[in-house]
Amino acid sequence: MITVTRRDRIFILTGSGISAESGIPTFRGSGGLWRNNHVEEVASPQAWARDPAMVWEFYSMRRRVAAAAKPNPGHFALAALESELGDRVFLCTQNVDNLQEQGGSQRVLHMHGELFKSRCETCRRGPFPDEACYEPPTEIPRCVCGGRIRPHICWFGEVPYEMDRILVALDSCTIFAAIGTSGVVEPAASFVAHVRHLASTYYVGPEPPANVGVFDRCFLAEAGKMLPNLFQVG
Ligand SMILES: [Zn+2]
Repeated sequence: MITVTRRDRIFILTGSGISAESGIPTFRGSGGLWRNNHVEEVASPQAWARDPAMVWEFYSMRRRVAAAAKPNPGHFALAALESELGDRVFLCTQNVDNLQEQGGSQRVLHMHGELFKSRCETCRRGPFPDEACYEPPTEIPRCVCGGRIRPHICWFGEVPYEMDRILVALDSCTIFAAIGTSGVVEPAASFVAHVRHLASTYYVGPEPPANVGVFDRCFLAEAGKMLPNLFQVG
């Protein structure tokens, strides 16, 4: 149990584990494969330059998988915490699905982008909502400016989104909780080390993360089982 007082500000970082509990497979991190390609070789600017049709095929598949998934009790618990504490909760996710929004969360910062959004790579139109699947023999979608439309995803080698807002929230939090993160993917893996002298730090997930030693306390259980009763708001 984590006691939350009126003075506390909570930074929540969610990772693929909470989505995996809803049936969305983990693609990021080590060992992720799609059609015998390492995910790093599909989710990268180099892959987009070489074979954009393959990249869109991968993200079209992921859109279909994510569209069929439903939020779990962990997602609902985060939405309930936000509705109770308002802007004293900062929800930051590495996930690109919209399960937290489906669970009722109002303000989720997607540092790695959003599966159901696209943007123009040329004129910076977007990101705009896009649930379509673009698979061969479909053409690569084009913007009115003629540029190619790409997934609104932070690929390997690209800088995560809204890091300035994330750093402000990290520097002002008193409770930091990472949920279902592998502790491998940077820069998110370093957030806990960044805040450990300012905040109490917690981990929730069935397996210990790679950076387990940095946390004050780990709750080794599924988010869907642990989160509904984890925070006690005083
Ligand atoms: Zn454009």
